[in-house]
Amino acid sequence: MIIGTALVVGGGIGGMASAISLAARGVKVDLIDLDPDWRVYGAGITITGPTLRAYRHLGMVDRIRQEGAVTNHSRVRLFDGTVLRVLDEPVIEEGLPATGGIMRPILHRIMQDRVRELDIPVRLGVTVDALANMDIGVDVTFSDGTSGHYDLVIGADSVFSKVRDLAFPHMGPAQPTGQGCWRISIRKPPEQDMGEFYFGSANPCGITICGEDAVYLFLLTPHEPREEHLNDEELFTTMKQHLAPFGGNAGWIRDNMTRQDWINYRPLAASLQPGPWFNGRIVLLGDAVHATTPHLASGAGMAVESAIVLAQELEQASSVEAGLKAYQDRRFDRCRDVIESSVAIGKLQLEHGPPGEVAGLIEGALARLNEPF
Ligand SMILES: Cc1cc2nc3c(=O)[nH]c(=O)nc-3n(C[C@H](O)[C@H](O)[C@H](O)COP(=O)(O)OP(=O)(O)OC[C@H]3O[C@@H](n4cnc5c(N)ncnc54)[C@H](O)[C@@H]3O)c2cc1C
Repeated sequence: MIIGTALVVGGGIGGMASAISLAARGVKVDLIDLDPDWRVYGAGITITGPTLRAYRHLGMVDRIRQEGAVTNHSRVRLFDGTVLRVLDEPVIEEGLPATGGIMRPILHRIMQDRVRELDIPVRLGVTVDALANMDIGVDVTFSDGTSGHYDLVIGADSVFSKVRDLAFPHMGPAQPTGQGCWRISIRKPPEQDMGEFYFGSANPCGITICGEDAVYLFLLTPHEPREEHLNDEELFTTMKQHLAPFGGNAGWIRDNMTRQDWINYRPLAASLQPGPWFNGRIVLLGDAVHATTPHLASGAGMAVESAIVLAQELEQASSVEAGLKAYQDRRFDRCRDVIESSVAIGKLQLEHGPPGEVAGLIEGALARLNEPF
C-alpha cells in the first residue's frame, strides 16, 4: 500500500466504508465527524442487490440480514391498491439476497461497530478548517485548533461538503431537481409481506420492509418550498393529505400513522461533480462528489462502492496520483449513469410521462447497476 496514513472527513456511509476498507489494508486511519453525537436520522433505507454486494465486501451482509430485512420479490400496485404484478428481483451473486431494507440508525451502528473493531480513532464535533497539499501528504488544521499531517485526506462529508469548498474550486453545489421526498418510518402493516411500488397517481410512492416490524414509506411530490419549513404537526397532516388517493398498504399507513412516527420532507438535489475528483492528495467520495436522488435507491450503494474502489486502486497503484486517477476512472461513468437515470426518471414523473417509459428507465438502469463495479 502506497499510503501509510489517511484522514477521513465525515463518518457517514461513505466515510465509514472508506475508513474500514483502508484500515483493513493496514492504513492508519483517523475519522472525524462534525456531529458531536455521531447520529443519523430515523429513516429506513433500501439496500438494493448491488448495495448488498458492496456491503458483502465489507463483511456486513449477515448483520444486515439479521437486523434488517431481505427479500427476493417486490409487488407493483396501482395507486388505489390494485395489484399489477409481483416481480422476481434478480440475485446478482450466489448466496446474496436480491434486495432489502434496514433502519438507518441500525445500519449506522453496524458500520460503527466495524470501525471500533478495527480500532479506528474517531473524533466528533470536529471538522477541517484548512487543507494544504505539501510535497508529500496534506497538512490539516482542525476546527478545534489542533493540526495533523496525513498521506491522504478523503472528503466524505456529503452534499454540502466543506472539503469540496476548501480544495475543489472547479466544483459547485448540487442542483435541485424540482421534486421532494416524503418519508415516514412506521410499524409494518399487517398485510405487508414484501416491498411495494405504487404507480398511476401524480405522486409515486413505495414501501420498503426494514425489519420484523418496521417499514418506511416514501412519496415523491413536486417540490413546494413552503413544505420545507413545516412543523411536526403540519408535516403529519400534509403527508396524510398527499397519501389520500392511495389504497393497499400505503392506504393502511395513511390511516394508521401517528404523530409519534418519524416523518421527514426533503427537497431533492443531484450533482455529478466534474473531474478531477482529487487535488494533490485530497480526494472526494460519496454525495460530496456524486450525489443522486433516491429514484434508484442507490446513493448509499454508490458511496460504499466508491470507498471499496478507492482502497483497491490505492493498493495496486505505483503512485498515489495513479491510484486516485484509477479510482476516478473506474467510478465516473457508473456514477454518471445512476445520477442521469435518476434525474431523468424524476423529470418524467414531474411531466406525468407514460408509466411504461418510467418503468423502462428504472429497469434499464437497475440492470446496468447489476454489472460488476
Ligand atoms: C430522501 C433520500 C432518500 C434516500 N434513500 C436511499 C435509499 O433508499 N438507498 C440508498 O442507497 N441511498 C439512498 N439515499 C442516498 C444516501 O442516503 C446517500 O447517498 C448516502 O448517505 C451518501 O453517503 P455519504 O457518506 O456521502 O454521506 P452521509 O451518509 O450523509 O454522511 C456524511 C457524514 O458527514 C458528516 N459531515 C457533514 N459535514 C461535515 C463536515 N464539514 N465535517 C465533518 N463531517 C461532516 C455528517 O455528520 C455525516 O455523518 C437517499 C437520499 C435521500 C436524500
